[in-house]
Amino acid sequence: MPSEVQDIEQLRQKIIGLGEKSLKKSYYPELQQRILELEHTNELLRTEMDARAALDRSLKVMHERLSALFVSTPELILFCEAERNSEGILTDFRIAESNPAASDCFGISSDSIKNTRLSESPLNRGLPHLSDLELISRGLLSWNGEIRSSKKKIFRVSIVPLQKDQLTVVATDITDLEQVKEKLLAKNKELENYLYVASHDLRSPLVNIQGFSNRLAKFTEILARRFMQGLLTEEESEEVLAVLNKEMPKALTVVLGNVEKMDRLISGLLKISRTGRITPQIRKVNMSSLFSQIVGEFSYQIEQAGAQVSQGNVLSCYGDESLLHQLFSNLIGNALKYRHPDRACEIILESHAQNGFVVYHIRDNGIGIAEKYSERIWDVFYRVDPSSPASGEGLGLSIVKRIADKHNGRAWYESTEGLGSTFYVELPAEPFDAAEEEK
Ligand code: ADP
Repeated sequence: MPSEVQDIEQLRQKIIGLGEKSLKKSYYPELQQRILELEHTNELLRTEMDARAALDRSLKVMHERLSALFVSTPELILFCEAERNSEGILTDFRIAESNPAASDCFGISSDSIKNTRLSESPLNRGLPHLSDLELISRGLLSWNGEIRSSKKKIFRVSIVPLQKDQLTVVATDITDLEQVKEKLLAKNKELENYLYVASHDLRSPLVNIQGFSNRLAKFTEILARRFMQGLLTEEESEEVLAVLNKEMPKALTVVLGNVEKMDRLISGLLKISRTGRITPQIRKVNMSSLFSQIVGEFSYQIEQAGAQVSQGNVLSCYGDESLLHQLFSNLIGNALKYRHPDRACEIILESHAQNGFVVYHIRDNGIGIAEKYSERIWDVFYRVDPSSPASGEGLGLSIVKRIADKHNGRAWYESTEGLGSTFYVELPAEPFDAAEEEK
């Protein structure tokens, strides 16, 4: 390379070196600063990315938890969206998503529930008014209440806002709870009734015992006075003899009679209480042979009454054979006891199947029961005609009701005064778990 060229090149290099030097001198701090800033920004970005990744992870965990809850909760959950017409006016809410509990309860798939209008869904009886639903969807209101579905189910429902124009319906099926509540209320009423009747009926013999015991005390006072006076006149002797032979035995008879009555009442109460406490042994019961057995046991009364007892179609059921023996003995016994004096007694035993139950009919052509007694005849100790020659304590029918109850069944009757009565008892046609009574 020619020397001039070399010189120029050296010079160029120098200039560049100088340029770089001067460049470094003047821009170096600024560059350093810029690099630091960039490194800081980089650090911030990295921290933010870590935070975001942590947030993503916790959001995922939260989503998984909420999904598990949504899928597994026994509560029905419906996410609903507002439906508006072309003018933007709210016309209804449509179900956008529902959980498996809703499908189970309604008996339809979540795809079939999807897009159903809330007003046409099974939860439409007792829903708040559309204007209130709109307020809920705008976050201005929330609603709690009870809704009855078309399938006779009862739900406790909360409707809460989700986002604008969206709401969540959360429903708890409380049908079983309500049924238990109703049963408890009925049991409570029954117990109160027992208490009332027992205290009322036990009081009347006590009043008699008290009254006649006072009389006996007065008689002993008379006797003591007369004996203290020493020798008695003829008139006084007659008075003493009358007290000893007539008044005192009469009072004693009344006292003893009432004690006996109290004993019968208390034994009756014990019998009812025992019936309630028995844990039924549920087995298939051949009712046709049970009826034949009971009829056999009544053969003396049947013969005395000249009664005719016939069996039609009698189906089997599930229950405790000895309790059912008692139940139907009470009904057949009543049909014989309350026969009409002017015609031959006829009793027909039949049954029919109905919705998983067997309904037994005990039909008689007896004296019948007037409408006004229809509620009371099931009460403990209640007798339509307490002076009736037919023996009884007014316990038979209350025992019938208790035993039917224990079998998750029912007992009722139809009657025409003067013509006859039919008592019905509904008992399970399938095996079942008998309700355990408190011990
Ligand atoms: P009891 O027979 O001891 O009086 P129940 O509880 O069995 O008690 O019956 C209550 C009342 O219902 C009876 O006193 C009677 O008046 C009426 N009753 C029950 N069964 C019949 C029947 N088959 N026909 C007419 N009246 C009946």
